[in-house]
Amino acid sequence: MRMRKKKNCAVRMENAGRLLIREPAEQIGVWKHCFQNDNEIHVEIGCGKGNFCIGMAQKYPNVNFIGIEKCDDALLIALEKSAQLPIDNLRFISFDAKDLKEIFTPAEIRRIYLNFSDPWPKARHASRRLTSREFLARYDKILKEDGTIEFKTDNRGLFDFSLEEVPEAGWKLEAHTFDLHHNEEMMVGNVMTEYEEKFSSIGNPICKMIIRR
Ligand code: SAH
Repeated sequence: MRMRKKKNCAVRMENAGRLLIREPAEQIGVWKHCFQNDNEIHVEIGCGKGNFCIGMAQKYPNVNFIGIEKCDDALLIALEKSAQLPIDNLRFISFDAKDLKEIFTPAEIRRIYLNFSDPWPKARHASRRLTSREFLARYDKILKEDGTIEFKTDNRGLFDFSLEEVPEAGWKLEAHTFDLHHNEEMMVGNVMTEYEEKFSSIGNPICKMIIRR
């Protein structure tokens, strides 16, 4: 996502208070302390401007959510939006998901959401796609045994690639659709992301898969 540089981004990030976890590696194994409860933890990787994890946190107050984003200009918007709302079960971190094992212990996470992840269209960049076998191996290390990954995108090429990676990496496809917004069953409880609003409004079908090991 190309974004205009935000004015005073660093200072404004500092003002985010407890919403932003500044040293995520220090929370490894003890994330529950920062939420002060034992509820399960769901992570969104590449949360962008935060609409999805904010909406989910509001809808499911008994689940803890962590939004991970490597672009601080997008993250700042997510932080400033959530600061206006009374939400206790949401935190954000500025972090590259390739190093997930530095911040979560094996089996600390119940669910991972990947929404409209960067497509990395060149074949030589395939391992950077968040649904590549390399990333699935990273998720394998932090997700509970019965944990799931939910992936949405309007990019059919990336979705087809992901459908192939799933069995290659030893994961199972639990459910999938090439047109989420016309799939009544899979739409139950759907929370829209920024990209989902944008691309579905111009008529792009949204694909979704749910996978587990
Ligand atoms: N999920 C949002 C944004 C999608 S754009 C939505 O659906 O509207 C993809 C986002 O993923 C970008 O903000 C990008 O910075 C972030 N991202 C891509 N690779 C990442 C990585 N390895 N770690 C953390 N964030 C990543």
